[in-house]
Amino acid sequence: MYRTHTCGDLRKSDAGRQVVLSGWVQRSRDFGGMTFVDLRDRYGITQLVFNMETDPGLCEKARKLGREFVIRASGRVTERSSKNPRILTGDIEILVEDMEVLNASRVPPFTIEENTDGGDDLRMKYRYLDIRRPPVKDHLILRHRMAQEVRKYLDGQGFIEIETPVLIKSTPEGARDFVVPSRMNRGEFYALPQSPQTFKQLLMVAGMDKYFQIVKCFRDEDLRADRQPEFTQIDCEMSFVEREDVLNTFEGLAGHLFQAILGIQVPAPFPRLSYQETMEKYGTDKPDLRFGMEIHDLSVVARGKGFQVIDGAEYSGGICAPGAAGYSRKLLDELTEFVKRPQIGGRGLIWVKFETDGNIRSSVDKFYTAEDLRKWGECCGARSGDLLLVMSGETQATRYALGELRLEMGDRLSLRDKNRFIPLWVVDFPLLEWDEETGRFYAMHHPFTSPRLEDIDLFESDPAKVRANAYDLVINGVEIGGGSIRIHDERLQKTMFKNLGFSEEAAREQFGFLMQAFRYGAPPHGGIAFGFDRWVALFGGSESIRDFIAFPKNTAGRDVMINTPAPLPGEQLKELGIRVIK
Ligand code: ASP
Repeated sequence: MYRTHTCGDLRKSDAGRQVVLSGWVQRSRDFGGMTFVDLRDRYGITQLVFNMETDPGLCEKARKLGREFVIRASGRVTERSSKNPRILTGDIEILVEDMEVLNASRVPPFTIEENTDGGDDLRMKYRYLDIRRPPVKDHLILRHRMAQEVRKYLDGQGFIEIETPVLIKSTPEGARDFVVPSRMNRGEFYALPQSPQTFKQLLMVAGMDKYFQIVKCFRDEDLRADRQPEFTQIDCEMSFVEREDVLNTFEGLAGHLFQAILGIQVPAPFPRLSYQETMEKYGTDKPDLRFGMEIHDLSVVARGKGFQVIDGAEYSGGICAPGAAGYSRKLLDELTEFVKRPQIGGRGLIWVKFETDGNIRSSVDKFYTAEDLRKWGECCGARSGDLLLVMSGETQATRYALGELRLEMGDRLSLRDKNRFIPLWVVDFPLLEWDEETGRFYAMHHPFTSPRLEDIDLFESDPAKVRANAYDLVINGVEIGGGSIRIHDERLQKTMFKNLGFSEEAAREQFGFLMQAFRYGAPPHGGIAFGFDRWVALFGGSESIRDFIAFPKNTAGRDVMINTPAPLPGEQLKELGIRVIK
């Protein structure tokens, strides 16, 4: 028998028991007469004691144990004289009577403890060692628990988990496809799903009514902290639903997860904000509503005083940072540098301080009187002690930059509490997005998204104004999921493809199977997909989804542990009929 208990099981009430434990040696400490070994497994750490007086041979053996050796030890549980309140087994230790090395270990390349000296690359290369560390292990356990709760909730709502194929053809989610060459069909390729979108819609045509799947999706795009080439979605679809039916169902899922995992009750219904409104107020379609500091339009009130930066700009707007009027020159310079970063794109920053003594000071005193600036303040709801930050330029770009500055100020003023969660729905996205470079419209969500039916006439006159019946779930500034009511009518689907610049042939070639299915009684349907990795990361208090994936890829898309992607042997390429151009 390898064990009677795990390394996390034993408590004071077990004192006197005869037990067997197996696990890894985290560290051993030698005090001459006694040797202490911390034995670790997934469940915890238990202290083993070897006594020189009672069994010198065994104690000698214990002294030779290296870090990460795998051992089995048997002995008696006793209450410790000096307790360790930091671990659950801290009240007891095992007086070892027998011990056996099950497997030796090389010296690990970094310390395998709560904190480690291992750098990112090294830990990725030896990910299986990194996973032994409690913080990484706990992330995987959190992920597991969330997956179980998702299944529990959706099953309870009558959803059925159905697997869809991985070797398919292109799905239009806006990224590049990963492709797989077919040996049996030379010169032909499968694409890996960017999502199971078309399949879940086919399952609705098939009458499955409520579908879900926790599923791997693949998108070949540039990577960031919250992106991986393969990632997991909670993918869902329902029949005979309108938007509110979908939102209510998945508010239920979110509420269930908050309650089951974090023990938090979030009030429902979640706020619903239109795309237009969130862009105006927060400069982004994924606003963080944990704090105010909304963007206010100053274009009209600030114009006409001879200040070219504002007079010549399409738009001017400001955010009001509460209690920050005391910001020093240095801090203001830092903020100016911040907005000038290429990824923010600001040209400069105007500041106005509403000081507590009633004075108003600003970087634009030359052009504006105190009375002028007071009007700005009124516009933005500034109070005594506040700092108003103003930017000008092209409308969208300036709102975006102000939105980023808002988040920066939110961080600086500690307004983004990790333990508070404010979910909301963003609705009424534009259906189409114009791309200057290619001179055509793209679907903002994907081509199967239904327009708001009252906007259909706009297809002819002003396609950019057509609103989509689409929605995103946003929590604390993170886009957790998105979906839409779908087009279920062949004619409307054709209009959509036409507006997206697909020729009839191209549409038939790529999505003929779906159009065909729509001819056989497609029910009205809609759905949503959640970024599972992101959701777990959010609940785990981190921005990096990599920390919540057992074997992630690095920012270059490599798995440095198994060393892939890798070249293929010539033989294999030949079989596939592929020649590589260097
Ligand atoms: N397939 C969509 C996506 O991956 C989600 C949906 O519309 O259900 O973003």
